[in-house]
Amino acid sequence: MRAQIYLWVVMSESFIIPLNGLATGKNEFSWMVGKEFFESFENSEIIDAELDVTAVVEKSGRYVGVDCDVVGKVVVECDRCLEELEMPVDVEIMLSVKYGEEESSEDPHEGEREVIFVPETDAELDMSQIVYDYVCLALPMQRVHPDGECNPDAMRHLSGETEDGMAENSPFAALKDLMK
Ligand SMILES: [Zn+2]
Repeated sequence: MRAQIYLWVVMSESFIIPLNGLATGKNEFSWMVGKEFFESFENSEIIDAELDVTAVVEKSGRYVGVDCDVVGKVVVECDRCLEELEMPVDVEIMLSVKYGEEESSEDPHEGEREVIFVPETDAELDMSQIVYDYVCLALPMQRVHPDGECNPDAMRHLSGETEDGMAENSPFAALKDLMK
């Protein structure tokens, strides 16, 4: 049997995979993730985003596997100068969807796939929380501009208040040394 790929054109806000409506074989979904997506989550550290999400959902009997790629960029606050900092994102989400109650004794992973449990009654899988979690987890702990690329005005302002190591590295500290 020839594998068929169905392309679903979905509204950017939905992030819904209609489990009941899936055809056997591969179904492809794609969504755009922008600023509004992250604004809908409380306390999100992501200020802006331009991400393409592509999910290939394979259905075979009662098996549903999701291979989802999230590629693009997000904007966060630089830890050092507090200005906007662009970070590339390239995340792969591999899920195995199971119906029924989650059993705590069960390993939540199947090989490389994270197992997602959905109630038998659920006709839809909402990917928004999953996409959000994976993108946030993919961001590095330290979010700073490469050396020398921080906003100098913001740095001057910040270093004027704290006489720490960073202030000593500023051009003003170097000038002070010359004046001695
Ligand atoms: Zn910076």
